[in-house]
Amino acid sequence: MNLTIKPFGRVNPKVLEYLCEELHDMAEVSLSAPQTVPDSFVRRNRDGEDQFLATEFEKAMAPEKGDRVLAVTDVDLFDHGLNFVFGHATIRDRFAVISIARFGSDGPEKLLERSAKTAIHELGHTLGLYHDDANLDCVMHFSEKLEDTDRKGRAFCTRCNAVAASTLSRLGT
Ligand SMILES: [Zn+2]
Ligand SMILES: [Zn+2]
Repeated sequence: MNLTIKPFGRVNPKVLEYLCEELHDMAEVSLSAPQTVPDSFVRRNRDGEDQFLATEFEKAMAPEKGDRVLAVTDVDLFDHGLNFVFGHATIRDRFAVISIARFGSDGPEKLLERSAKTAIHELGHTLGLYHDDANLDCVMHFSEKLEDTDRKGRAFCTRCNAVAASTLSRLGT
């Protein structure tokens, strides 16, 4: 599949470079021009910081080319009913978004690792995968907090991989 990565805001270029490398196994990756987070996006204030509604990014990426489009942003995200989210995607749609806002507190290695795991997780949703809470190591395990992300692996388990592979084969990778 062809994957477009679209940066929103000021995203650490090392993260973008790392994601391009890490996602290369799954897709033909291209980087789209960065843009600022549009003023029109729904936001709220949490503890003095702006938080943006995750689905706004997905809607805004409609003009982007690619079988899948992944937004990467440095601003914090939320979804209705949740204090924050690390990422968001719609099952079987083209679009996903991840925020690196909460990933950098434990050094550069953790920042890259958490970004990669979250990107693979959200892209997994776009390939038809649901949460795999039966398997602690599977990247499709739900992450409610950073410890969840740090604990799980970055790969799909055998069962999830079979679903992802069948979608990828339809896309003609
Ligand atoms: Zn998820
Ligand atoms: Zn799994």
